Amino acid sequence: MRLVPYPEDAVRRYRQAGLWGTATIATEFHRVAQAHPDRDAVVALEGRLTYRELDRWTDRVAAGLAALGLRPGDPVLFQVSNRLESVVAWYGVLKAGLVPVATLAAHRGHEIGEISRRIGAVAHLVQAGQRNFDLVGFAQAHRRNHPTLRHVLVLGDDPRGEPLGALGRDADPAAARALVEEIQTGIGPDDVAVHQLSGGTTGVPKVIPRRHAEYWYNALEYARSFGWTPQTRVAHLIPIIHNAGIVCAVHAPHSLGACLVLGSPDLDESLPLMAREGATHVLLGHGHYRAAEHPGFAAATKAVTQVVLSGAKVPAALFDGLEARGLWSGQLFGMGEGLFLTTRPGAPRSARATTVGTPLSALDEVRILEPGTETELADGTVGELSCRGPYTLCGYYDADEHNARAFTSDGFYRTGDLAVVRQLDGGRYISIEGRIKDLINRGGEKINAEEVELLLLRHPRITAAAVVAMPDPRLGERTCAYLVVDGAAVGLPEVQEHFAALDVAKFKWPERIEQVPEIPRTLVGKIDKKRLAAEISRKIAAEKAGTC
Ligand code: AMP
Repeated sequence: MRLVPYPEDAVRRYRQAGLWGTATIATEFHRVAQAHPDRDAVVALEGRLTYRELDRWTDRVAAGLAALGLRPGDPVLFQVSNRLESVVAWYGVLKAGLVPVATLAAHRGHEIGEISRRIGAVAHLVQAGQRNFDLVGFAQAHRRNHPTLRHVLVLGDDPRGEPLGALGRDADPAAARALVEEIQTGIGPDDVAVHQLSGGTTGVPKVIPRRHAEYWYNALEYARSFGWTPQTRVAHLIPIIHNAGIVCAVHAPHSLGACLVLGSPDLDESLPLMAREGATHVLLGHGHYRAAEHPGFAAATKAVTQVVLSGAKVPAALFDGLEARGLWSGQLFGMGEGLFLTTRPGAPRSARATTVGTPLSALDEVRILEPGTETELADGTVGELSCRGPYTLCGYYDADEHNARAFTSDGFYRTGDLAVVRQLDGGRYISIEGRIKDLINRGGEKINAEEVELLLLRHPRITAAAVVAMPDPRLGERTCAYLVVDGAAVGLPEVQEHFAALDVAKFKWPERIEQVPEIPRTLVGKIDKKRLAAEISRKIAAEKAGTC
């Protein structure tokens, strides 16, 4: 089955409880825009748009996309960074009834080739003028021999593609609105709205279909859980075309008339923007856990009343340091597959400091299972975090075999994360304790170990490979590859050349090579990754201490 629907009784329950609406994302956005026309919808480094401006511009873009011949349901690959026009593209594409596919600007031929064929992409949106890589040239080349892929759309200026921002420039606003309404009438609230990508657990990345009503609900509940109002100004520095970006920074503020203050990962430009725009809320990913050390942090957080930390375990010193500055801090665990856990206003300090809190929705169901079984574990025992609920997927796209392993017999999604329920101040809060899934979390980008190992094995002299996470002070983790080679040593430069030749996204390239005579295995014959990860951690610590 390509798309696994939510069970009918669950759909009924979520609607009866008032969690799911009956409109598409484009219609929900338009309603909010009409209620708050003069408020800022997005303020970015390059400019700002009110709700009225964003709503009208995206109507025109939708009309322009339709005029190009794009039809409802057509998938559009997104490879753009945090630009004002990225938000325009997002709603323009949704208003045209097209389905954004949240690939990354960092993806290359290896990833895009596979995903775009699997999904039958019809258009490819890329950003012009990228400093280190010609994304427009890449998109043009990628289109060759790809029968479904007919259009290259660009953000910015480049004659090799259709400039998205100018699409429908001459369209009559009333006609564009009428066209959008007609398109949206043909789309159901439970139809697929967006394809997100999973870090995955095996092989190629899995596609996560997100549907209109559940995806909008996910964001609205997030905004409500933090008590946001139309006056809230949400700063976001990590990529927006990711699940956390779309839910927490685009849809959540736009579900209630609040403003997105859209920065970039570069603190030198984003912190002054936050200061100028009076950001009241900021989500800090692992790559920004040291943001408070930046000289611009105090000014940037003058109006901030909520800091949310996400992506990796929060060190006590970081949490205490933020609170000592008078910044209320909480945590978020989120995943493209659905489930969000948050510590929100009202949660005791101990829970905010040491746990990721509680599920977002009253109808989320969470179980901690003994790994590999369906046995539920008692509070206080670490096991696999599993969940079912009103915004958690029921199956990856076109992945029956994988789905059979990824869900329990009663439809709980096995997250691959290890968690424990802790009782604190009379409440039950979830703490993340590690993971079973074999991936590297490089500053929030997930790298699938098996995918990298298979790529390494395509090198003619590599006969065995095991990839593990090594600790890194800035990114949390980086990739270390243990290799067995035939003949002369294979060094890091050679491995990098190999990955470049295979056109693999750079963040997946191994960053350290350890050559070994053989890969250690456990008693049952599996690669002993625990041992390798412990060994590389020890080695790095010794190198730092100067004892090696
Ligand atoms: P993504 O779907 O890319 O957002 O990645 C989701 C994964 O990121 C989760 O399954 C976790 O492994 C990891 N993750 C997200 N938030 C946290 C957190 N607060 N603490 C630890 N790991 C996290």
